[in-house]
Amino acid sequence: MLILTCPCCGMTGEETEFHAGGEAHLQRFGPGSTEDQFEEYLFMRENPKGVHFERWRHVNGCGKWFHAARSTTTLEVYGTYAAQTHEPPQTLRDKITAKVPGWTWREFQ
Ligand SMILES: [Zn+2]
Repeated sequence: MLILTCPCCGMTGEETEFHAGGEAHLQRFGPGSTEDQFEEYLFMRENPKGVHFERWRHVNGCGKWFHAARSTTTLEVYGTYAAQTHEPPQTLRDKITAKVPGWTWREFQ
């Protein structure tokens, strides 16, 4: 069971308090993009063994969206942060790097 803390209202609860919204930090493509870019945006998702960034919504609370970083292997939640960001805060990335040696932001690119 995941235990998440909503960064908007500060409430901590089990994952049933929230609703998962898929992968975070997707790069969106608009008019003028190639078919390959649009296909990637629509269908291609990360499926990492380890650190993963996801969108969550606090459906049984404040109703706001936020991002969470967690491990897909241990279910440890490294932290949550506001959804209005293009990348995780540096403090969170430092925390993950300390716990997962060798991990770097967007190491998959
Ligand atoms: Zn909330």
